[in-house]
Amino acid sequence: MSWHINILTLFPDMFPGSLGQSLSGKALEKNIWSYDTINIRDFAEGVHKSVDDTPYGGGAGMVMRADIIEKALLSIENPGKKIFLSPKGRVLDQKMAQNLSQTSAITLLCGRYEGVDQRILDAHDFEEVSIGDYVLSGGEPAALTLMDACIRLLPGVLGNAETPTEESFSTPNLLEYPHYTKPASWNASDGKTHDVPEILQSGDHGKIKAWRQEQAQKITQKRRPDLLGKK
Ligand code: SAM
Repeated sequence: MSWHINILTLFPDMFPGSLGQSLSGKALEKNIWSYDTINIRDFAEGVHKSVDDTPYGGGAGMVMRADIIEKALLSIENPGKKIFLSPKGRVLDQKMAQNLSQTSAITLLCGRYEGVDQRILDAHDFEEVSIGDYVLSGGEPAALTLMDACIRLLPGVLGNAETPTEESFSTPNLLEYPHYTKPASWNASDGKTHDVPEILQSGDHGKIKAWRQEQAQKITQKRRPDLLGKK
């Protein structure tokens, strides 16, 4: 059974977007994952097929209507876990991506304008998930990001060469050590010669492992000390 995502959106053509390329694109062809877009506008009424209205209490912008979103949601046979992409949500991290990659049915709601009527979230128990502390113009790029983080964790998506076991945020919760490839000595346009650390060329796997662990600790301590105590 493939990992399935339903996407409630006003812009279905944004999918699969970047996920139709490279490893996720191949996995889509192989049916390791699949998706359906549900165009919320198809459930609007009237000549203008309007999906939004002005906010109660005043203020700028428009709000997507709960009744129309609900009709779109109820059209989904098996919505599974419901997520609203929102800057107010819990920030997506690797652990969440791991959990979601093991959840067989998920429905993502992509907001536009000022967002959605709160009542749709309350009535249908949506979890709010953010992809970071900034505001996008719509939930679609956030949905693609969340999906990408999950898809690459599905069995069969990454080859052995790209195995994610030592990546940033996997166990232990560290940023990854730095990578180097050929040439071993590189004369860069800054006028300097940049050499690959000797230890990586030594062939001593024990020392290389210890060096990488040390680098990962250092880089995490410097850039993201908050991760060190995190489970
Ligand atoms: N008025 C909202 C606020 O201040 O929190 C922002 C609305 S934003 C212009 C429109 C939609 O983009 C949101 O409803 C949400 O679906 C999506 N969005 C924006 N930033 C996001 C983020 N950091 N993570 C996830 N979704 C986001």
